[in-house]
Formats: sequence, C-alpha cells, structure tokens
Amino acid sequence: MAANWNDLADQQLGGAVLSRNDARAILAAPDEEVMDLVAAGARLRREHFGDWVKVNYLVNLKSGLCPEDCGYCSQRLGSEADVLKYRWLPQEEALAQARAGIEGGASRICMVASGRGPSAGDVERFAELVDELKAEHPHVEVCACLGLLRDGQAEMLKAAGVDAYNHNLNTAESRYAEICSTHTYDDRVQTVQRAKQAGLSPCSGLIVGMGESDDEVIDTLFALRELDSDSIPVNFLMPFDGTPLAGTSLLTPLRCLRILALARFTCPDREIRMAGGREMHLRSLQPVALHLANSLFLGDYLTSEGQAAAADLEMIADAGFRVRSSGHDAGEIAAARTPEVALRRRGAGTELAPNA
Ligand code: SF4
Repeated sequence: MAANWNDLADQQLGGAVLSRNDARAILAAPDEEVMDLVAAGARLRREHFGDWVKVNYLVNLKSGLCPEDCGYCSQRLGSEADVLKYRWLPQEEALAQARAGIEGGASRICMVASGRGPSAGDVERFAELVDELKAEHPHVEVCACLGLLRDGQAEMLKAAGVDAYNHNLNTAESRYAEICSTHTYDDRVQTVQRAKQAGLSPCSGLIVGMGESDDEVIDTLFALRELDSDSIPVNFLMPFDGTPLAGTSLLTPLRCLRILALARFTCPDREIRMAGGREMHLRSLQPVALHLANSLFLGDYLTSEGQAAAADLEMIADAGFRVRSSGHDAGEIAAARTPEVALRRRGAGTELAPNA
C-alpha cells in the first residue's frame, strides 16, 4: 500500500493500476485526511483534464411508466413516486429542450427514455431527432440512454450520428438481484459492450448509497474499469417516496468525496461525473468535488429538480474551473453577476422571527 495519498497519486501518474488494498484504504480514509486525499486525486484530474469541466444536459424523452423494477428508480414498475409521466415527447419539444441545454452551456446532450429497451420505431425516432439536432449544432455530442440494446441497434444509433451510449452498471454483480428482478447484471454488461463494439463511446456508472459495502463499491468501479467505460457517472441515491428505497440515507458529504476519489484513482483518465443526488449528498462540498470529478449534469435530472443551472455555472467558475467547449464561458457568467446585499428585515427590531 502507498505510504500516503500523494505517493498513491505518483503511482497512478506512473501508470499503476489501483489495487483493492489501496481502494479499501481510500474508502476508509479518516475524516481528517479527506482533503489530503482530494488534493492527491486532484493531481490526476488536472493531469488528464486540466481545469475543464464537461457540462452535460439531460432530456427525459419518456418519463415514468417503465416495466422494469429497479428499486432505486422513481420510474419503475409499481412506483408510487409522484413523478411526471408522459410518452415520447414530440420531436419539436425534445429539440427545444436540447437547445435550452446547449444555450445553458452543455456540450453533451443526454437523451433518455425509460423502458426495458428501444423498439425499432424508437431507434428511428431517435435517429431523426439526432439528425435535426446535429444539423443545428454539429459540434454537440449526443448520448443515448434507451435501455437494453438488441442486436444491430447500437450500429443503427452510431450510423445516425449518436456519439455515446449510457447504460449504468449501478451496483456490484453480487447484489444486482437485490435491486432489480426484471433484468440481470449480465444484460447490462452486454449492452455496454454492444455500444462499445459499434463504436459508441461507452458511458456507464454507478449509484451509491443503496446499502452496498465498501467492497461492493470497489467491485462496481473495478468492473467499470474492466468494461473500459469512457465516462463514469457517480450517482448518489435520491430516495424517492413511493420506491422501495424511500427514506434510505446512508451517505455523508465526506463519504461522497471518498467515493469520487476512488473513482478518480481507479480510472484516472476517464470522465468522472458527479451526477444525480450531488446537491442532496455533497451539499456545501460540491465545489470541492470538482477537484475530483471533471463533469456534471447541468440543472435538472430525469424526474427531480437540481440546483439552478446558473448556480452550477457559477460554482464551476468560483472554484477556478472552466466549462469545456460550450457557447458560454462560465467565468464571464460569474463576472457578469452583480452581487446584491440582502437588507435584514427579520429578527431584532422587527416583528418577524430571527434567522436562527
Ligand atoms: S430500466 Fe431504467 S427507467 Fe426502468 S426502472 Fe430501471 S432504471 Fe428506471
């Protein structure tokens, strides 16, 4: 095991493959060492990505009504979560949503449809959408997330101009059956492999905070390293009411930083995304997490609201990072903001309750 976090970063910069012992040490780092761990991981992040942050934007093409039963998901079969439910968005609306993300600073649009997998018609509709979007914005990257892919579908998406395919492993193989009974871990691995073989950039990540052990987090990240995932979204469980994991609260901001550090040390040159649930679980440490993660989703998620998109861009600029290849420069956005002093009108000298 490395003597300290900087030695471990030196090893990784020299091309070493993270061992399970070192991975366990990262997840067990004492609270007082977490900032040193982040600083060491930040060296890997800067080596491969400098001060750039990739901004992604989600468009939920089809919401709720999924026949699968992933326990963490608000769109699952039997979900009583009060989320928006709609069938495939009309193309014009999908395009308008994508445009909003691009104008907001996103360089990748991630278009998602709930369901087991796409029908032939879905793939066709998606191809038309990509065609129109790329005609308007030739440099924007499009990631499709349409569920399990059947033979030939990845090739059709690639031919339509799709750049990447997202399908998360979510958790360790050993506990997959605990979180989903309608498809298997192997089904998911196969879809990521199909996407990669067709020339789509594989995007596959995980969800933490579902009661997994340290070794299960490590198993999942090592499996993603093995799968050669180009981008790795790290989701922090959002325990929707009306789902089996409602009320689950197992993460702390420092635990989230350790997990992001583990992702960075395991896959130093891959896009590590602080994804869904970052606001809820990293809380005031979100900007610190940017020293490990080089990517985030702007604004809202599939069925829940994130922090304001402007606050995301401001956070990136305030932490000393820049948004990669977007129409906006985050520095300019932050500089253009005029700070306003909120005059006190509550507490002492007023009839209103104090801010305490
Ligand atoms: S397949 Fe996707 S949309 Fe359906 S329940 Fe699972 S995670 Fe949710």
